[in-house]
Amino acid sequence: MTNIRRFIWPLANKGVRVPDSKLSKDKQIEDAKIPEIATIYLQQHIGAPCEPLVKVGDYVSVGEKIGDSKSFVSAPVHSSVSGTVLSIEEKIHPSSGLKRDAIVIESDNKDKWIDRKKINDISDFKKDELLQIIRESGLVGLGGAAFPTHVKLSPKNKIDTLILNGCECEPYITSDHRLMVEEGEKIVKGAEIFAKILDAENVLVAIEDNKPDAILTIDNIIKDYDLKNFKVLKTETKYPHGFEKTLIFLATGREVPLVIENRAGLPADVGVVVQNVGTAKAAYDAVYEGKPIIDRVITVTGDVKEQKNLLVRIGTKFSELIDFCGGFNGTIEKVVMGGPMMGICQNDLDVSTIKATNCLLIFGDGMTGYKKRDIIPKDIENPCIRCGNCVKVCPVNLIPTDLAKYARARKFNLCKENNIDACMGCGSCSFVCPSKIELAQLISWAKNEARNIK
Ligand code: SF4
Ligand code: SF4
Repeated sequence: MTNIRRFIWPLANKGVRVPDSKLSKDKQIEDAKIPEIATIYLQQHIGAPCEPLVKVGDYVSVGEKIGDSKSFVSAPVHSSVSGTVLSIEEKIHPSSGLKRDAIVIESDNKDKWIDRKKINDISDFKKDELLQIIRESGLVGLGGAAFPTHVKLSPKNKIDTLILNGCECEPYITSDHRLMVEEGEKIVKGAEIFAKILDAENVLVAIEDNKPDAILTIDNIIKDYDLKNFKVLKTETKYPHGFEKTLIFLATGREVPLVIENRAGLPADVGVVVQNVGTAKAAYDAVYEGKPIIDRVITVTGDVKEQKNLLVRIGTKFSELIDFCGGFNGTIEKVVMGGPMMGICQNDLDVSTIKATNCLLIFGDGMTGYKKRDIIPKDIENPCIRCGNCVKVCPVNLIPTDLAKYARARKFNLCKENNIDACMGCGSCSFVCPSKIELAQLISWAKNEARNIK
């Protein structure tokens, strides 16, 4: 059955065409104001949370490690300001809406940094040394997944291809686009670090064809440095072509198995590792500049007075970023962390940015040049008409209509048997459903419930 479905709707044809709405694509990255108070959550990544390494009253410098974990699947956190630790307390976390431990630091406005060890060349460094620098810098996937980078760079299988993901297929978000245009050289040097650690022979930089300036910039850098193992791969603008497994298929023709040896298939199972372009830039900063992750580029867009791409210190309040963009434009319906397809609605703008925050999207009554109902169908739900649209678009070959039916019936064992774990929450099924069934939300809820079944 699975093979028949794939024959009819091959992976390359999956996904949906959504208006890309890249309103801020020409806005140069600018520095956001350093926050007076920085709130650094102890969990900013997939895996184990950190334990605090500081106590109330301690003085910390910018870049100082303030939390760490002994677990392999974790990443340390660092202070993004210099100042005094005010408290270690639970704060609402933007990913879950739940209270999570955080270190609250009051800035002394001096921006005093730790001593940073800078280098010009990585050729004398061993792979383990580079991996250790990356681990200590707190680097995680900056495309939104926040998976610890040192873990991804330690696969058991032989890796022949590194894919640098510059697709940025979610509508509205332009942080990676601007980074490629403005910091392309650092991205390419970051990719060289990854390729050295992985022993990867080929590096493909995948960029969607709605970013011709980024394609040109990266291509020119590759030519200037005569990097024969690097290649730019221009992909069609389609959502979610930036999803790892889809991208691997588009770039190499290899299909990551849904399940292998009783676990979900991984890119490394087909000899590939995928890293986001922002992660590569941050790896450059860590290795060449001795700079841990204390900031990142965030797009603030939608109904704000001025849409911007901002270099933001981790731990800055969402409300401060919105103020920095001139405030809301008109009446606001909701604020989303991320894009319109996979973003997370926020009900408290006093939450603070984390390493995974790539965008703040403001939905209001203006939405310049864009009808929000085009993207998020929210009308009254009708019964399923078995049109098959959701099956056609699902990038991991699931049958969303069946999964939603099992979810409603609380048949979580059937959800599990039908590979609900492979759902990556892209929202494509909800987007195309003519009956306005909130398939992705139902599936996401059932996926969590199914995890509790032995
Ligand atoms: S949300 Fe899940 S089920 Fe729906 S299309 Fe995306 S991957 Fe498939
Ligand atoms: S897209 Fe909607 S109506 Fe069509 S099969 Fe899927 S759930 Fe049913």
